[in-house]
Amino acid sequence: MKKLRVLIVALIAAVLGSYFVFDLERFVSLAFVQSQLGVLQDFREENFALSAAIYFLVYVVMAAFSIPGALIMTLLAGALFGLLWGTVIVSFASSVGATAAFLLARTLLHDWVQNRYGALLEPINRGIRKDGGFYLFTIRMVPLFPYFLVNLLMSLTPIRAGTFYVASQLGMLLGTAVFVNAGSELARISSLSGLVSGPVLFSIALVGVTPLLARLIVAALQRRKLARRYGKPRKFDVNAVVIGGGAAGLVSSLIIAGAKAKVALVEKHRMGGDCLYTGCVPSKSLLRSGHVKQLIDNAREYGLKDAGAKVDFPAVMERIRNIIARIEPHDSPERFTSLGVECVAGEAFIESPYAVRVGGRTITTRTIILATGARPLAPPIPGLDQVDYLTSDTVWNLESLPGRLLVVGGGPIGCELSQAFGNLGAKVTQVEMAPRIMAREDPEVSELMSERFRSQGIELLTGHRVARFGRDGESQFMEAEHGGKMVRVEFDKVLLALGRKPNVEGFGLEELDISLTAAGAVEVNSYLQTSVPNIFACGDVAGPYQFTHMASHQAWFAAMNALAGAWRKVSYKAVPWATFTDPEVARVGLSEEEAKARNIEYEVVRHPLKMHDRALADGANEGFVKVLTPPGKDRILGATIVGQHAGELIGEFVLAMTHGMGLGKIAAATHIYPTMLEANKFAANAWRKNHLPHWVFPWLEGHFRRQRK
Ligand SMILES: Cc1cc2nc3c(=O)[nH]c(=O)nc-3n(C[C@H](O)[C@H](O)[C@H](O)COP(=O)(O)OP(=O)(O)OC[C@H]3O[C@@H](n4cnc5c(N)ncnc54)[C@H](O)[C@@H]3O)c2cc1C
Repeated sequence: MKKLRVLIVALIAAVLGSYFVFDLERFVSLAFVQSQLGVLQDFREENFALSAAIYFLVYVVMAAFSIPGALIMTLLAGALFGLLWGTVIVSFASSVGATAAFLLARTLLHDWVQNRYGALLEPINRGIRKDGGFYLFTIRMVPLFPYFLVNLLMSLTPIRAGTFYVASQLGMLLGTAVFVNAGSELARISSLSGLVSGPVLFSIALVGVTPLLARLIVAALQRRKLARRYGKPRKFDVNAVVIGGGAAGLVSSLIIAGAKAKVALVEKHRMGGDCLYTGCVPSKSLLRSGHVKQLIDNAREYGLKDAGAKVDFPAVMERIRNIIARIEPHDSPERFTSLGVECVAGEAFIESPYAVRVGGRTITTRTIILATGARPLAPPIPGLDQVDYLTSDTVWNLESLPGRLLVVGGGPIGCELSQAFGNLGAKVTQVEMAPRIMAREDPEVSELMSERFRSQGIELLTGHRVARFGRDGESQFMEAEHGGKMVRVEFDKVLLALGRKPNVEGFGLEELDISLTAAGAVEVNSYLQTSVPNIFACGDVAGPYQFTHMASHQAWFAAMNALAGAWRKVSYKAVPWATFTDPEVARVGLSEEEAKARNIEYEVVRHPLKMHDRALADGANEGFVKVLTPPGKDRILGATIVGQHAGELIGEFVLAMTHGMGLGKIAAATHIYPTMLEANKFAANAWRKNHLPHWVFPWLEGHFRRQRK
């Protein structure tokens, strides 16, 4: 084997060496080919078979040794042999040559690469073993991928040589025909101006649409493969089955019904999902009660004497239930049925990409949309099973306010609930492993919020890694590691807010071998299509953003793509979010930290709320509006707002970013006085001020001085 490798290296060196030493490059230039076209055509007239054989051999050698010039050679085939024969000859020559290149590279490199990087390459190897021929076919269909690179890279994988040959020949056929066709037109061109003649342009345009055709063919082949594998029914009960009746499922089923397609929405628990029952709605309602309590506690600041309030916790929880009850009808089976959605109560199990079982009933369907959401993460921390822990699912069942509440997690949910319970009178300790809370935002946001939390009596333990939970008689405790020491915190209740795990288990995804991301979410492409092409996913189960508004946003794309074949890429152009603490924290686009991490050049403008009229009037003058733009330009890269109603204020930047409006447009719009919204305009004005044409001022000064004389 070693000798063979040495021989191959010597052969490659000899061929490539002669190519460069003898300047053989000139023979594969357009000018040379055109200058010799007459001679070559005469030879072909007299000796078709011989000329075809010589051409074939030269092409194979060039492809085998990755010698540049495949394009010119292909065009020449069109000029010499015409569309049909040219395509046949090039198709075989390029496939044989590519396979030779593949085998040479495999002999030289495959074992070395696999021995060295095998573990790293395992996911790729698995994919190639399963669908390698198909992947290669897809890549070959797109003439943008350099052929020699494809040969080389595929040689490093476990794909079989026979599969490589067949997939290459089929995949390159269309592109080959298009280039050969272009070549048959080139044969009639005597000058460069001829290159832009109509037929040639048409041929080249054909090359341009090849990727699109390729996509359609690939999609059709995928559908066929799926149909064969799972036995596609002749008729379907519905056009789509949507699994999960949270924000993502509700919106996608409404869109499908709105398009007059038949849709079945399967929900195993309550329509409305997490947002309505355990997420956005109860958390915002609880925060409101806490905020009112906090305002009353601070009534003196507003010139109000003797104000006071006692927290009636069951009444607070009753209020939350009432609010949910008022929203519930919007998401109810009755409403959705009236809007044309078939609501099916029960747990869905995907039997095949065309059949979903609910209870004893099997619903056949053309497509499936996964909208099964996520659930709170409860990692296996030692001793966790010994304590009565709460999550965002169960905290709403509390009947009395915990005296000492330990909140584990410094993300948005942990922060909102810490502040809400703290404002209502619980003694809250919040633990976070990272050095700061709200770590997704810029450090100045975390700093401001930490100060605020501490001033409200919340004990913040950042940089503390929870090591274990335990019980000591009646008392429950947590021990966290901090700077090499153990810190112990006793609590009455502990709330875990450590992130949310996508619901992907137990309803048939494993059996279909649907790919998951490293984070455990369903892997989707930019059409929200899973690894099974007629199954789409949206919302928390797919991510990457676990917000209700993103679930609804994705739902539109998932529904449209499920109905009409993957055609609209989901857009994440201006994704906003807010943490509804007091003050609120809202963001769209890049933070300063992200811009730095991604080496994106930026400028920052900022409007602090300290002296903002409306913020002062409301006694809520903590915070700022901060906007990132590219240097010298007013295009908005990102905006962060900390302040009261930040979640509303950010909307102006979302609109501007979505429609490509810069800070100049925000500055030019009239904002009502006195509002918090004006803070956006002042930030935009700050940008304008920084970019005034200062060179003009001395001239203006002189001009106006002269006017006064
Ligand atoms: C405390 C908290 C506060 C939050 N606050 C906000 C906020 O202020 N703003 C915001 O944008 N987001 C917020 N979120 C996030 C928001 O709730 C989620 O992003 C949103 O609910 C996701 O919607 P979804 O449709 O993807 O999933 P879900 O709402 O979880 O719905 C999934 C549904 O699928 C059902 N299901 C699962 N498996 C099956 C099956 N096999 N068969 C049938 N049915 C099934 C479940 O029963 C569930 O009803 C908050 C979350 C929490 C926990």
